[in-house]
Amino acid sequence: PYDVLIVGGGPAGAAAAVYAARKGIRTGVVAERFGGQVLDTMAIENYISIPETEGPKFAAALEQHVKEYGVDIVNLQSAESLRANGRYTEVVLSSGGVLRGKSVILSTGARWREVNVPGEQQYRNKGVAYCPHCDGPLFKGKDVAVIGGGNSGVEAAIDLAGLVKHVTLIEFADALRADAVLQRKLLSLENVTIITSAQTTEIHGDGSKVTGLSYKDRKSDALLRLDLDGVFVQIGLVPNTEWLKGTLALSRHGEIEIDAKGQTSMAGVFAAGDCTTVPYKQIIISAGDGAKAALGAFDYLIRSSVS
Ligand code: FAD
Repeated sequence: PYDVLIVGGGPAGAAAAVYAARKGIRTGVVAERFGGQVLDTMAIENYISIPETEGPKFAAALEQHVKEYGVDIVNLQSAESLRANGRYTEVVLSSGGVLRGKSVILSTGARWREVNVPGEQQYRNKGVAYCPHCDGPLFKGKDVAVIGGGNSGVEAAIDLAGLVKHVTLIEFADALRADAVLQRKLLSLENVTIITSAQTTEIHGDGSKVTGLSYKDRKSDALLRLDLDGVFVQIGLVPNTEWLKGTLALSRHGEIEIDAKGQTSMAGVFAAGDCTTVPYKQIIISAGDGAKAALGAFDYLIRSSVS
């Protein structure tokens, strides 16, 4: 068995692997796609000490750093279930294989919920964005829309209103669903327009970047169009934890509940990054929490009888 078995190879899993391996203990990482979400972005400008890099370059550097420590990387394998078996925790892969760890760190990340309209995939990273903290500054002085009137959509619209020329917030229901205090703040901003009962039907572009969006007014059925430079989709971040339901404590949003050391509700099982209840899903936060979970797992190993 591994001393520390990590499930997920994004920034959280990679940081956990480096921290565990530096303790001289047997460390393995199993990942569907080593690198994680950063593989899907081009510009990363908020990882401290690296003013600017590209996602695939950042992911390759994660892998190289982990490999320097002789960590076993089992890539392109998906974990299907987790179970306690005596002194060990077992991770069952969809290939049928079983990996065992004296401790396990879950770092399976999350994915943005998509609107699933024509143009969304074509213009992803070309005007279609999901993270205001990451991509907001790219739209300075431009016109953008935010799709989604829940807390994250309204927060994004308030955040972007301070950076861009104009924000149109588009909500499917007939009222915003965000907290009243956020709605009051939003309504006080001069460069924000709110459109409710609006179903986005298409994101338009000129072949290389976003130029607008069409929506159906659900009250009149009229099809309307907005001219835009960017569209932020804010209809939810879904943790990759479906496979853990019923095994350990998840929040009502499906996030893995952890304590200050990354410990989950299951003995010897830790978690870090976007798949957990920790707020603000960012690379630097996931990496920091990955390090923390590895130190938590090491602490567990030296105090328990499994080592
Ligand atoms: P992830 O990066 O999601 O990694 C999860 C890992 O788990 C992957 O290896 C995945 O394959 C694996 N996995 C999932 N399920 C399973 C399973 N069942 N079995 C095995 N493996 C599994 N953040 C910033 O700080 N700055 C930015 O500029 C920025 N830009 C972004 C742009 C885009 C387009 C996106 C999508 C995100 C961006 N983010 C940015 C957010 C950032 O990428 C995430 O916060 C970060 O990657 C989370 O790291 P993580 O390790 O927790 O999870």
